[in-house]
Amino acid sequence: ATAFNDAVAAARALNAYTVETPGDALAAADTADNARNRGDLQPLSGIPLGIKDLFATAGVDTTSGSNILKGFKPPYESTVTLNLRRAGAGMLGKLNMDEFAMGSSNETSAYGPVISPWKRSDGGNAALTPGGSSGGSAAAVAAGLAPGVTGTDTGGSIRQPAAFVGISGIKPTYGRCSRWGVVAFASSLDQAGPMTRTVRDCAIMLEAMSGFDPKDSTSLDLPVPHWEAGLSSDLRGKRVGIPREYRIDGVPEEINALWDRGIEWLRDAGAEPVEISLPHTKYALPTYYIIAPAEASSNLARYDGVRYGMREQGSGGLEGMYAATRAAGFGAEVKRRIMIGTYVLSAGFYDAYFNKAQRVRALIKQDFARAFEQCDLILTPTAPSAAFGLGEKMSDPLAMYLNDVFAVPASLAGLPAMSVPGGLDAQGLPLGLHLIGNELDEQGVLNAGLAIE
Ligand code: GLN
Repeated sequence: ATAFNDAVAAARALNAYTVETPGDALAAADTADNARNRGDLQPLSGIPLGIKDLFATAGVDTTSGSNILKGFKPPYESTVTLNLRRAGAGMLGKLNMDEFAMGSSNETSAYGPVISPWKRSDGGNAALTPGGSSGGSAAAVAAGLAPGVTGTDTGGSIRQPAAFVGISGIKPTYGRCSRWGVVAFASSLDQAGPMTRTVRDCAIMLEAMSGFDPKDSTSLDLPVPHWEAGLSSDLRGKRVGIPREYRIDGVPEEINALWDRGIEWLRDAGAEPVEISLPHTKYALPTYYIIAPAEASSNLARYDGVRYGMREQGSGGLEGMYAATRAAGFGAEVKRRIMIGTYVLSAGFYDAYFNKAQRVRALIKQDFARAFEQCDLILTPTAPSAAFGLGEKMSDPLAMYLNDVFAVPASLAGLPAMSVPGGLDAQGLPLGLHLIGNELDEQGVLNAGLAIE
């Protein structure tokens, strides 16, 4: 009993869950028993999943990692979690995350950082980040606290944390998963996706999560392919694009070595590597950090102390109440994004920043369209480094933003992209390989992931 209690305490010390809902998971297990007796098992019957805290879960706290939503229990369920429930899954609890999914280390969360279950092998016992914003999701899967979890990815938040903890995670084509009931960060970029231990589990979960939803106007009205049934690690006849612009200065040698290893693995599976060019890559990060904050500033206008969660009375009537609520409810990173967003959208600067960024985004999308005339999928590293220590980048937002340099272009283009484990670095920490597919080609991405796994 003591050993069990110690294990539970150690698991909780990771701070991966913000709410635990064991009753929900147990109820799904009971339902699965009955379904088995009736010969009516669903793809996820009885499977207990962790749910990132920005999916609305009926009657269960949904705070998007923010103080401003503390106490908010939605009366409705997000389409993605409803789809998972209909496939038989239960919920283990809600997972910690960066506030409103803004961050790359889970350190902007109102619940405090998540600790990665990984440590550097050199004996340094420093706590490492599991990445972000889906940091609780990543840590839960890596630590064996859930067989699968939901994440969301606006500019890398499924892929970078998956890479940091050595698991798989896929962001599908924009529109595959409904955004209905998903707390909005940057609506033109936000996509849900699964994070799991294996590529096959990703395929199974993504199939359950996806599908047209009339409640999301950007949802794709297309049938959901049978990705699991279509899995194959035979890549003969596939050309894998290696974008030369991703060979950026200052990336550690081990990241380039990882990339070369990945190329060899795909070659072994029958694919042919080809060099490609994505000429506007260097503009992707600045473009993202205009568009994402712009959309965020608009989306976050709804947190006014009237409609959701917390309220601070303040002084000075309604305006004073708004101001006091937002001042107390939002953390520093969220306020920084709102300020950047309102600035780039303001009358005098709209053309110079937001409009320009939208045009560059179109060029980035066009780069990919041209590249996919020469290749079937693209391989890059997921992140420019292995997991870093807690606190290491919090005082330097630009260093933090740079973490997303490889992940952001696929988000701007709305393309499916996945991180799969690619081995360990010299410190014994996981590194991720990143596969980007053409629009709607989740199957190609999953298959290449399977070949690497
Ligand atoms: N780290 C990026 C950001 O802070 C991406 C976050 C995400 O994908 N949700 O915006």
